[in-house]
Amino acid sequence: MSPQSNGSEPRSPLTLALFGPPGSGKGTQAAFLVEQLKIAQVSTGELFRQEVRRGTRLGRQAKEYIDRGELVPDEITMAMFRERLAKSDCAAGVLLDGFPRTAAQAEALAAFLRGLDRQMDRVIYIKVPQDVLVSRLSGRLTCPECGTTYHPELAPPRRAGLCDRDGGRLVQRDDDAAETALRRINVYKEQTASVVDYYRNLGLVAEVDGLGPIEDVRGRTLATVSQSRVG
Ligand code: AMP
Repeated sequence: MSPQSNGSEPRSPLTLALFGPPGSGKGTQAAFLVEQLKIAQVSTGELFRQEVRRGTRLGRQAKEYIDRGELVPDEITMAMFRERLAKSDCAAGVLLDGFPRTAAQAEALAAFLRGLDRQMDRVIYIKVPQDVLVSRLSGRLTCPECGTTYHPELAPPRRAGLCDRDGGRLVQRDDDAAETALRRINVYKEQTASVVDYYRNLGLVAEVDGLGPIEDVRGRTLATVSQSRVG
């Protein structure tokens, strides 16, 4: 019987992984989950940036790849991850963010967790339709009358869709922002497809509808975690 399966047995620390394309609200949900569940957020991208800032050997190795927009080789990533997971704040549980990024990392992670008597509990994928992602990312809105620009999240107008100055109906300009956003989304999907498929085959993926008010998405996200603890 799995250590997750029965409330009377001691549980191994919770291990979650969070996926979601750029614009899905993954960052917001990650912050909520770690606070709510009192677990550590482990973001390999952030760990690499720290190493680069500190000028460590690992940081210098990783920087070459990061600067080229490529993935850092699995061995380097795994070594850094193992070290991070040994820290005391990970004892209560972890939310993995941006990791694993390749099927090989997912397999290495599974072996590593097994050695610690831990396991992946749930892989949460925040799903948002592509057109919504694009408009969230390339969300700049412009008043055709006076040229004032807004952003729904970063600089929202007082009344949705209308210019504060002259009440003009805000429009999205037909520039290349959407194309850039689309490229980022597609790169993400291509990169994560093999990992998400890996976990899907293991029945671990919970897809969360990322549309609607943030509180609703939070509720749905949290629900997938409780399912993993009783299932
Ligand atoms: P992120 O902030 O998650 O987008 O990561 C920034 C960069 O760090 C990525 O573009 C990769 O070069 C590198 N990186 C982060 N996580 C991983 C990972 N799990 N495997 C390989 N490279 C990674």
